[in-house]
Amino acid sequence: MTSASKSLHGQRVLVTGGTGGIGAAIVEQLVEEGAWPLIHYGRDKTAAEELLDRISGKGTILQADLSTADGPFQLWQQAQVSGRIHALVNNAGIRSEVSVDAEPEVWKATWMREFQVNFFAAADLCKQAIQHFRAHGGGKIVNMASRAGQRGYAANAMPYGATKAALVNLTKSIAVSFGREGIFAVAIAPGWVRTEMAEAYIAKNGKAAAVADIPIGEMAEPAEIAELVSFVLRPSQLSLNGATLDVNGGSYIR
Ligand code: NAD
Repeated sequence: MTSASKSLHGQRVLVTGGTGGIGAAIVEQLVEEGAWPLIHYGRDKTAAEELLDRISGKGTILQADLSTADGPFQLWQQAQVSGRIHALVNNAGIRSEVSVDAEPEVWKATWMREFQVNFFAAADLCKQAIQHFRAHGGGKIVNMASRAGQRGYAANAMPYGATKAALVNLTKSIAVSFGREGIFAVAIAPGWVRTEMAEAYIAKNGKAAAVADIPIGEMAEPAEIAELVSFVLRPSQLSLNGATLDVNGGSYIR
């Protein structure tokens, strides 16, 4: 293993949704590059323990429900107990479907939950991280957005696109406002990535519907996103701040 491949040595990185498709790939890549992941999970303790086994125990697992108002703050509290955190990866997310024909209570509840998990939890964790980074010489934030937040989204999943657009804007605000204090923020905007979230869509609509507008004709692999997260976190990346990194096979070019 080259020294470049251990470029994250000593970094403690909080990854939300760390047991999901993309989250687990991020955790594995971080360990590969020498970091110590703080692996957040929501409900699936077994998946978290299995992942910890796969990385030979080189991480810490933390539970929190990000659909509650207190969840993100409790998570940060647990994460910072054992010392300095160098980076936060807001990766947890849900993709819900709701029609404009839904009953108002259903419509409203879906929007509220989507914003709580995908955006408010991330914003709360960014707040905590910024305060922590200020006191400890800086740090980096990676927010997992989506192509859906850039180009508008399907009629039955409008809340998802809106939460991701908000996340991109939050990322830019942090980059602009706190860069001088050594705090960096970057958004990653994947198109479809081969995980349970994508499989759920494919099961309903077929693969052709997912890849029809992707010039390379394929979804991304979780490992591709993980590699990019690690790249952003490299200490040698001193100017990568405020960007939205597109990983969409050429399906949305700005
Ligand atoms: P996934 O469903 O495999 O993982 C989502 C993770 O979020 C899980 O670990 C889950 O436990 C966690 N989570 C969900 N609700 C939670 C809650 N209330 N409390 C705590 N944790 C909760 O999905 P994924 O594809 O790995 O998605 C990861 C991120 O990437 C998400 O933010 C998603 O929006 C984004 N993304 C995914 C795709 C895709 O095609 N898969 C495309 C673009 C962006």
